[in-house]
Amino acid sequence: MIDVCNIQVMKPLLAEHGFHFSKAKGQNFLIAQWVPQQIAEDSGVDATVGVLEIGPGIGPLTQQLCLRAKKVCAVELDTRLKPILKMTVGEFENLEIIWDDVLKQDVAELVKDKFAGLRPVACANLPYYITSPILSALLEAECFEAVTVMVQKEVALRIAAKPGTADYSAFTVFCQFYAEPELLFDVPAHCFLPQPKVTSAVVTLRTRMERPWEILDQATFFRTVKASFAMRRKKLQNGLAAGFPELGKEGAGEVIATCGLPENVRGETLGIEAFAAIANEIYRRKRND
Ligand code: SAM
Repeated sequence: MIDVCNIQVMKPLLAEHGFHFSKAKGQNFLIAQWVPQQIAEDSGVDATVGVLEIGPGIGPLTQQLCLRAKKVCAVELDTRLKPILKMTVGEFENLEIIWDDVLKQDVAELVKDKFAGLRPVACANLPYYITSPILSALLEAECFEAVTVMVQKEVALRIAAKPGTADYSAFTVFCQFYAEPELLFDVPAHCFLPQPKVTSAVVTLRTRMERPWEILDQATFFRTVKASFAMRRKKLQNGLAAGFPELGKEGAGEVIATCGLPENVRGETLGIEAFAAIANEIYRRKRND
């Protein structure tokens, strides 16, 4: 197996194919072998698993996943990588590459089609310019046991943040609604070529099999979360009134009181259970109007 993380091997390989890194496609390739090994190990991949990988690049993580999984399906946008991936991962019979934009895929359909009878997981060193849309698509597909990704450390901290902290955001609630995150380890910039300007981190999101809150209407729930974070450090009442003009300031105050929350509560201090209670109350009022 070609050691694609070895820079002495990789540079001539890329030069041979006239390959130049595309910043626009978020191409920062791993050059430290321990990183893809650790990601593949921590993602819980074994012979019962089908893995969706996003952006194989020249294949360091792909190799590690193919060594462990029953099947790997990798989606890569940049077709210039075809001849290189043929050399680095062409030997694996359990690998299928889809040459397309991952955001154009129906992820749930793809998983159903490719991983019948297997435990589906997703695993990737994500292109950072589209971290949020990719992660959203993976979680919303609601078909993976776990999603293990390398992202900018700042994003990893947001994904795993607790209520009331600076990193806690609407994106935190979105991720934690679907899954329970665990920060795994940091990856310094020198582990990549070219080096990104930021530290990276690997995070795993284990899908919740059962959600411990009752949510009457998911659209109202996410609208509530968005409205609650839209005016940070302002009273929740103002955020809800702006996000739900039909409620008005008075109605927003009544919702907050009905949920047993203090009048001056701020949205960024609330956990998912409280957002669920608020959203349910708003939804009930709408239905009774
Ligand atoms: N997995 C490789 C590694 O760890 O060295 C490469 C990771 S690199 C950060 C991100 C990869 O995602 C690149 O290969 C890039 O071409 C690919 N990519 C970028 N945008 C994409 C998209 N919309 N759909 C699929 N792949 C994409």
